[in-house]
Amino acid sequence: MNDEMQALVKPKITVHDIWKARKTITPYVHKTPLVYAPSLSQKSGAKIYLKYEHLHLSGAFKLRGAINALCHLSEKQKAQGVTTFSTGNHGIAVAMAAQQLGMKATICVSNHVPKSKSDFIQSLGAELKLTGASQDDAEAACYQLERDKGMTIIPPFDHPEIIAGQGTIGLEILEDLPDVSCVIAGLSGGGLLSGISLVMKQTSPNIRTIGLSMEKGAAMYESLHANHPVTVNESPTLADSLLGGIGQENHYTFPIIQKNLDEALLIPEATIAKGMAHLFAHQHIIVEGAAAISTGAVLDHYLTFNPGDHVVLIISGCNVDLNAHASAIRPYLDQV
Ligand SMILES: *Cc1c(COP(=O)(O)O)cnc(C)c1O
Repeated sequence: MNDEMQALVKPKITVHDIWKARKTITPYVHKTPLVYAPSLSQKSGAKIYLKYEHLHLSGAFKLRGAINALCHLSEKQKAQGVTTFSTGNHGIAVAMAAQQLGMKATICVSNHVPKSKSDFIQSLGAELKLTGASQDDAEAACYQLERDKGMTIIPPFDHPEIIAGQGTIGLEILEDLPDVSCVIAGLSGGGLLSGISLVMKQTSPNIRTIGLSMEKGAAMYESLHANHPVTVNESPTLADSLLGGIGQENHYTFPIIQKNLDEALLIPEATIAKGMAHLFAHQHIIVEGAAAISTGAVLDHYLTFNPGDHVVLIISGCNVDLNAHASAIRPYLDQV
């Protein structure tokens, strides 16, 4: 193989890389609790555990991947800083990781970013670059910063160090619950479930991994069915952290998810709201729709388990507007 061809071959991500990520992020990212959920267990007939990934200081698991990616930069890259165009939990995670590691970060956002998110990003010392009306403008601004200032773009999911960072969740689950039979999480770009499913399938092919998305705008779900990356139209959803495409040039997460994920399902909005209401009423936690989708799916019997199964739901984040949370759960509080 000549050098040119070699450059086109993307490195394969292994569980070894995920162990190395664990070592890299340990000084910056604490291990999260895995808690038993009595009421969900009773309703489902399986033993249900919740992995509390909303307890990171950034409010979501994405800090794992962001810290891992930033730690892998060269000294020159570290000096020139990082940039990204995600307005959601990845943007917050990159800003926080840069702050912890003493690097410059510029987060490019469209004019539509909610004030709570832009305030959070700025409070972390990152520069916020307002770029225009669309997400495409924000992306273009990012590439401009790369060209003009030599900043490194940190992609939200399709990147080996991001995937390995998120995969450390899988290692923690196995430490606490070695006889896990199934792991369920929200599925968007697939960074979260790529890392976790690599760990689970390497450990035992019998451990099921399941990805859940909202009904409208589920890019990975549609891509899996089409057998190639497709673009989809987005609509408002309670699981806003699951919106966004998977990239027409997807290199890592699409093939990893295609190979390792056992099931991908679409979940309606009312079920997501029920999940949020149940976690509020029975676990006393306030989490975003993307984090409650698996709880809702269990409650509404989208998933069936064998008695005695040990099932882990990834409670992926808590960055939700409190008024939006209150109005989402109100209709369901007396049903859950
Ligand atoms: C990003 C995110 C997800 C989905 O992760 P992907 O790697 O994009 O599949 C799920 N939940 C929350 C809260 C997120 O921020």
